[in-house]
Amino acid sequence: MRKYKIAVIKGDGIGPEIVDEAIKVLDAVSVKEGFELSYKEYLMGGAAYDVFGDPLPEETVEGAKNADAILFGAIGGEKWDSLPRDKRPETGLLKLRKALGVYANLRPVTVYDELINASTLKPEVIKGVDLLVVRELIGGIYFGQPRAFEEDRAYNTMVYTKAEIERIAKIAFEIAQKRRLKVTSVDKANVLEVSQLWRETVEEVAKDYPEVTLEHMYVDNAAMQLVRDPKQFDVILTGNIFGDILSDEASMLSGSIGLLPSASVGDKHGLYEPIHGSAPDIAGQGIANPIATIASASMMLRYQVGEDKAADRIDRAIKRVLKEGYRTKDLSGFDAKEIVTTNEMGSLIAQYASED
Ligand code: NAD
Repeated sequence: MRKYKIAVIKGDGIGPEIVDEAIKVLDAVSVKEGFELSYKEYLMGGAAYDVFGDPLPEETVEGAKNADAILFGAIGGEKWDSLPRDKRPETGLLKLRKALGVYANLRPVTVYDELINASTLKPEVIKGVDLLVVRELIGGIYFGQPRAFEEDRAYNTMVYTKAEIERIAKIAFEIAQKRRLKVTSVDKANVLEVSQLWRETVEEVAKDYPEVTLEHMYVDNAAMQLVRDPKQFDVILTGNIFGDILSDEASMLSGSIGLLPSASVGDKHGLYEPIHGSAPDIAGQGIANPIATIASASMMLRYQVGEDKAADRIDRAIKRVLKEGYRTKDLSGFDAKEIVTTNEMGSLIAQYASED
């Protein structure tokens, strides 16, 4: 029997509620497809700070490193906002990504036909959008040295090495090979030397993937094109800060933050999490949308452990609940036939994912 160890980090706010639903669905599909998942829980973020005085205890890093994959909810909340930066939940997450060497953040954006009216954009612009942002996650200006906050000036450094660009570019081209064979590399090469190196390096990597079309786009233009004609994109490849901004912009094409999954992968490890935060405003009320986390669990099966059939089951089940009009409260205004709780949504998806 195929067996996989999953490190589970539920985190803060709605984290525990949504991760529980993802586990329910994972259990259902693993039984159906004949593999076994074992889970071990670790604390991170505010929950870890409250117990250990540290948002990322060593035990969590070790547990994550020893697992086959990591399923993560979300961290953060007002309660911990006034802590010094190194004690804050968000610092724990940045450190975990770095410790795991997960340099590629993958964010697929799919527009579900049933929710086409949930977007602020016109239906004809977004119908059929299916793109994936590949963002470099552990380099660039968020990590570059030197950095400083001085009395009357402050600075950060945007730096990329050729090796860092090569490895993220390879991921984008490999994924494009399994999709629609197009990579749009986004940079600011007309102004920044670091982007010039980015562009040259991506061109070199592209030579190994002759069947994939490469185009370059300046980041300001890309921001505009994403709302003008998002269907032109297949895989968007970009650096850390540009990717941070563009992937949030792209997420709104689908209309709800509660739907979108993500994966952060490296050569060895993979961390799978919804793109949204811990939503403290709705925590504990049973109204959070678990779909983004359940879809992240599907990505985990597909990209980390190669259980594609089980992932297909989950993706089909998500489409079916939406088609049948089941909605959590965040989507209640969009062709809803029945408003369901977090728990009911998880159970429905688990049930549909088990059916043949
Ligand atoms: P958020 O994503 O938590 O919430 C934004 C809005 O979207 C809120 O109104 C929330 O209720 C809603 N929302 C989010 N997820 C939802 C879901 N699954 N179902 C229904 N509604 C949902 O962003 P925020 O309010 O800016 O941040 C809250 C906390 O989360 C902060 O402490 C922030 O630092 C943290 N955060 C964590 C992560 C992470 O863990 N990766 C990411 C972003 C923000």
